[in-house]
Amino acid sequence: MSKLYLVPTPIGNLRDITFRALEILGSVNLILAEDTRQAKKLLNHYNISTPLQSHHLFNEHKSVESVCSKILSGQTIALVSDAGTPGISDPGFLLVRTCLEHEIPVETLPGPTALIPALVNSGLPCDRFCFEGFLPPKKGRNKRLTSLASETRTMVFYESPYRLVKTLQEFALHFGPEREASVSRELTKIFEENIRGSLTFLSEYYTAKTPKGEIVIVVAGSK
Ligand code: SAM
Repeated sequence: MSKLYLVPTPIGNLRDITFRALEILGSVNLILAEDTRQAKKLLNHYNISTPLQSHHLFNEHKSVESVCSKILSGQTIALVSDAGTPGISDPGFLLVRTCLEHEIPVETLPGPTALIPALVNSGLPCDRFCFEGFLPPKKGRNKRLTSLASETRTMVFYESPYRLVKTLQEFALHFGPEREASVSRELTKIFEENIRGSLTFLSEYYTAKTPKGEIVIVVAGSK
């Protein structure tokens, strides 16, 4: 039966992909990709020649209905994002919702995502946690930080290297300078780095050493 597959792809190391993900990418009629050039690198590496179509934040509202029509007419389609799990701070949610409205089966494969290795590596409690993704850059940012000050679960954030120090300083203001945290940079890549310490220590560390690459911040919950 035709369906939509959501297929996680590596967050850095091309070998972090499951046998089943490769099987599905090689057997579907069409792969929807956030960036077709990025997807091609992965597909070429694994000699997969399935047709690609672009599906990103700026065209997904327009394209979801036609994607659903294709599946309803018998095609099986896979969605991939640039890295990690589609739908996690990446396009995916709207397509899943629309497929479900049309009673199209949706299957999400388990696989790479940046938040889980960062959380487990942090050494902070991971029995309960909340994923906050990217904080709003301006509007609503302060309100979100104020509401998170009383959060007791470990918190996971995505951040860009350009904003890391500012964000750590804001966390210190809202959560307290001694709150424990961890910064994971370039997970699964050659220069992977996991630095743990108080928010003050981390903001001083990255003030002295300008961060590069992709970053996850994990912050202990309030006691
Ligand atoms: N869908 C992805 C996932 O499942 O993790 C997230 C996509 S989001 C657009 C990209 C953000 O994820 C980056 O800015 C960074 O915060 C985080 N990220 C992705 N790859 C990473 C890596 N290798 N190391 C650390 N953080 C990473």
